[in-house]
Amino acid sequence: MKDAIPLNEAQRMVLHHAVQLGTERIDLLQALGRILSNDIRSNRDHPPCDISAMDGYAVRAADLSVVPAQLIVIADIKAGDLPTLKVEAGRCARIMTGAPIPQGTDTVIRVEDTQAIAPDKVQINVIAKAGKDIRSRAENLRTNEVILTAGTEINPGTLGILAMVKCAEVQVRCRPSIAILSSGDELEGLHDAFDVNKIPDANSYALMAQVQALGIVPTLLGIARDDLNDLREKLEQGLQYDVLLVSGGTSVGVHDFVRPTLEQLGAQMHFWRVQMRPGQPVAFGTTKHCKVFCLPGNPVSSMVCFEQLVTPALRNMMGHARIFRRILPVRLTQAVAHRPGNVEFVRVVLSRDDGGYLATPTGSQSSGVLLSMARADALLVVPSACDGLEAGVKAIVQLLDGTEFEEENRGIE
Ligand code: AMP
Ligand code: MG
Repeated sequence: MKDAIPLNEAQRMVLHHAVQLGTERIDLLQALGRILSNDIRSNRDHPPCDISAMDGYAVRAADLSVVPAQLIVIADIKAGDLPTLKVEAGRCARIMTGAPIPQGTDTVIRVEDTQAIAPDKVQINVIAKAGKDIRSRAENLRTNEVILTAGTEINPGTLGILAMVKCAEVQVRCRPSIAILSSGDELEGLHDAFDVNKIPDANSYALMAQVQALGIVPTLLGIARDDLNDLREKLEQGLQYDVLLVSGGTSVGVHDFVRPTLEQLGAQMHFWRVQMRPGQPVAFGTTKHCKVFCLPGNPVSSMVCFEQLVTPALRNMMGHARIFRRILPVRLTQAVAHRPGNVEFVRVVLSRDDGGYLATPTGSQSSGVLLSMARADALLVVPSACDGLEAGVKAIVQLLDGTEFEEENRGIE
């Protein structure tokens, strides 16, 4: 059996094979969360000319050297107008938000700082510097400028910009097809009759959800029994997909047939074990079309392996520029024991004090305790060479899904 390889080497090997997929053209209405495959340039200046940022009066700053100042109102300009007039000294134009700034004026006084004296006369009560409350031409978008780059995830703001430059359709990276297979004689399917002596299949669903969180709808192939024919048939089916995730049956037990069966089916295995905990018995192989991850059967191990190896692979295939989880510096609220040799991922909840984020383990870290993962905000990364972390020391965590939100509305004065 090959020795376990370091996690960063395993990630490099996976990413070497998990190359970007092709592209497809999709409707803008379906584009949220997809990845741009091309740079996008603006096809227009926006705004098309200098415009007012306020409802008020377009004036000449030079007319306001002494205030209050009375000015003659010679026009009413609203958004969408194309004014041709020129405003001379002592005059001004009433202007609405978004309306073009008329020639001769160089600043806008908001209506709250003025007093109407007559229908065509206004008193300005404040002085102003030239340029105040004017949005300059092209401050948002400039013709021909690259405004979004390939690899950008389409978020709501991006989607709005794409609409502004009239991309009714966008070119995005394709998403991989993914199959998920659980294996083991002891497993009870979600809809099988309840049997106290069986182990309910969690991995199919936890992995499904991890895949869905990346914007992909996977196919569940069900449970393969520890029987060569059944396993072979289901693996063969799974290898038709771009990515196959198999959990269980991948270690060295006498019924662990997954790896040899994949090899019989023509897969080339690239690694068998990785220096990480949980999740050491994780394997990766490829056929011409498929990338196959053999994940450990323990539910926590399978989820952590997915986070470390499958997530970056899938995001890379989908063309994301950002493929790794965001990390955050934290301090530990309690000591974490560790024996050097493997990178360890401790499931933690995050809290905060004036010094920043604090991480607290979620309780038992047994890889069979799926609640440790269900409760976690983040994975504390304990480096492989580390011989334990004391309470209060600095460390880093990888944020998990759902950590963008919190219970309290903080930070707003
Ligand atoms: P294995 O990797 O097949 O040796 O399985 C390791 C442990 O994970 C065993 O206790 C299995 O019962 C459990 N296990 C394997 N597959 C699943 C699954 N799909 N859902 C929940 N537990 C599982
Ligand atoms: Mg098994």
